[in-house]
Amino acid sequence: MSENRIPLAAVVGSPVAHSRSPVLHRYWLRKYGIRGFYIPMDIAADDLAEVFKSLPKQGFVGVNVTIPHKERVLELADLVTDRAALMGAANTIIFRRDGKVHADNTDGYGFIENLRQGAPDWNPKAGPAAVIGAGGAARAVIASLLDCGVSEVRLANRTRGRADALRTEFGSRVTVFDWVAAGNAIDGAATVVNASSLGMTGKPPFRVPLDGLSPKAVVTDLVYVPLKTPLLETAERIGCTTVDGLGMLLHQAVPAFERWFGIRPEVDEGVRAAVLGP
Ligand code: NAP
Repeated sequence: MSENRIPLAAVVGSPVAHSRSPVLHRYWLRKYGIRGFYIPMDIAADDLAEVFKSLPKQGFVGVNVTIPHKERVLELADLVTDRAALMGAANTIIFRRDGKVHADNTDGYGFIENLRQGAPDWNPKAGPAAVIGAGGAARAVIASLLDCGVSEVRLANRTRGRADALRTEFGSRVTVFDWVAAGNAIDGAATVVNASSLGMTGKPPFRVPLDGLSPKAVVTDLVYVPLKTPLLETAERIGCTTVDGLGMLLHQAVPAFERWFGIRPEVDEGVRAAVLGP
């Protein structure tokens, strides 16, 4: 491969037209004056292995992976980071110069970096964390909260079995609450996370009772459409520190961009505005 080859990257999924990743990476490519391209690629599950084989030969330095390929790509990788193995899913692929395919998962990293940037005084050890939801995103959130030293994660999910499975996986620092008692999980929690799709435009509203929400809590919502969800609005009214979910999307992209294009990009108002734009 020629040294002057223009680096290419993509988001691979199906469907993929809704993804904000091209806008995000293109903004950084322009900002840092990098001669590279980032495109959306709608690839069917049956074609994934073949496409993966050919991408590096075409000049791709890596890809983001989204639904429905996040789990399957682990089988196509030569190297899987510990955090991707723990998640059972990858969102970032690096096609290394030595031909090896490297799979990583930066969702948990993005979640924590967003909290740290949006709530600089956030202290993971200040008290229990409440997590609503037990899907793929919740798994990354729980793993990263425990990794930061949170002593107890209170978990509530509509389907109790999914929450119980995460408790089995992550151990006794996770406590499961029945869905009807989800408000009790939030009661007095120092960190509150909505990791369900509730409150997202087009989805049912977030109706977990917030009577016990402490004004000292740091509250974040993974949902970022709308940017200010009803959960964040209520939390703000109560006096909590709130952090919206857009920053998680931006921060999870930082390690990928750095590995592919050689510059660690900044998450600032400019990139937020670009991603929120039309
Ligand atoms: P997922 O695996 O499909 O999980 C969806 C979660 O929402 C499950 O816990 C599900 O509960 C719950 N849920 C859905 N409909 C519900 C309802 N009507 N009542 C109660 N609970 C309901 O999705 P995911 O990948 O974890 O994503 C969850 C949310 O996080 C999505 O809105 C996604 O857009 C957002 N997200 C944001 C970022 C970011 O960068 N900000 C990153 C990843 C995800 P059940 O188990 O009972 O179905």
